[in-house]
Amino acid sequence: MTFEFHGEYLVSNDQIGRLSKGGIVSRLQREEGLGIRDLSNKERALHFNGFVVTDEQNNVIFEDRKRYAPHFFPLSVLDYAKALYQFERSGQQIPILSIDSHDVLKCDFKCQDCLSSHGTSFPFKTFPPDNFKMDLETYKAILQSVADYSRKRGFVGVRFEQSGEGNPDYYKHRKQLLGHAKELGMRSVYVSTGSKIDDSLMRALVENSSFIRISFPGIGESYQRYSRQDSFTYDHAINLLKKMVREREKLGRSRDLMIGARVALREDHGDSYSSFGSILKGLGLDVMQVVKILVPEGRKRSEFPLSRKDKTDLEKTTELENGEFNVTIPHKLDYMVYSREIEDRSEFPSQCFSALFQPVLTGRSLFVCTISNVMYDHNLRLGTFEKGEGELEKFLTPTNVRQVMKGIPARCNCCSNIYDNMLLFSLQKLFRKNRGKLKFYEIIK
Ligand code: SF4
Ligand code: SF4
Repeated sequence: MTFEFHGEYLVSNDQIGRLSKGGIVSRLQREEGLGIRDLSNKERALHFNGFVVTDEQNNVIFEDRKRYAPHFFPLSVLDYAKALYQFERSGQQIPILSIDSHDVLKCDFKCQDCLSSHGTSFPFKTFPPDNFKMDLETYKAILQSVADYSRKRGFVGVRFEQSGEGNPDYYKHRKQLLGHAKELGMRSVYVSTGSKIDDSLMRALVENSSFIRISFPGIGESYQRYSRQDSFTYDHAINLLKKMVREREKLGRSRDLMIGARVALREDHGDSYSSFGSILKGLGLDVMQVVKILVPEGRKRSEFPLSRKDKTDLEKTTELENGEFNVTIPHKLDYMVYSREIEDRSEFPSQCFSALFQPVLTGRSLFVCTISNVMYDHNLRLGTFEKGEGELEKFLTPTNVRQVMKGIPARCNCCSNIYDNMLLFSLQKLFRKNRGKLKFYEIIK
């Protein structure tokens, strides 16, 4: 992209401006705006630096710079904000914006801190016996049902995350499924270690996905130590990414398809984040995400302080960022691990927004989230698809959704979507306080 950015721009569907004194949005010269309009969805996400909401007088009444674009990509946080706004203003039912599908419950890695351990040790017996044997036709019908549900509520392009509850590479109909999701206008996000991706699956992924993210349990030698297996190595993962980037170029998808890698903060990574970042950037990847792992059960966060060496290297890693390579590191560089405990209940939303926007599909059952005590509770399951097509409408009725949504947060001790829920809660309060017409802008830098 040849467009030169000078500072920050505010971009809405029909207007491009700049923040100026007093928070007034001023319009840009037409030519200056053209370069921004030409950005692809991916390029825009790589330049994303937050969002603002303005009132009828163009005053900025809300600004958020904490969201990372890859968390929502290929959607934007503004899709969520606008859907909530329509709901609050005109009662338009909230569409499903994203569905997180856990269609495989096994993994070839044995990470000691596996986030999916509640999935890989899933209580199969408490569910219908054939719930997790998803044949292609059933799966297709479920997707059709989700796409139809959202289309009727004014949204096309549901984000379809296939992350397994284990390794999604194992799902045998993945290639056909990716093609079908695309035909339905859904946008696939694929999250895996890539250990079982062969050439033909790799091609199907590059052809049909919006975002492919390969997870690294460790960097270099620590890869094997943390994944506790030795048949798929760090070098295999790097080579797979190289192949994907080549294939992307071959298929002419370099401006659309986001390819990224995710790695966990680890004791022995110390000063390897920046060198790893340089490798990824050199390969032509778009995104590097460094994340905290969940605090091990029974331990305290304070037992895992982040060393000065780690902090310095993480800060150095962010210097790799430019408009073509995005680095996300944890907002707080305090500990290596994080907790999802709800610390201040008075600040926590009284309703679960995730239940509305981004349910979780595990096998044929639809859940509000992946927190295990919630997930296993049959009363809190949104429903189970029997045949697929059209069923979502039957069990996701407004009354049913309201009941599930309201009944949950008071029972949750920790929350897997705590940051999204808190943001949506703040926006809901904002929309109720400011009754005039509001406008939404992405900050593009
Ligand atoms: S690769 Fe993922 S699902 Fe598999 S053991 Fe590791 S953390 Fe768990
Ligand atoms: S843990 Fe969070 S996302 Fe899950 S049901 Fe409770 S409030 Fe909703």
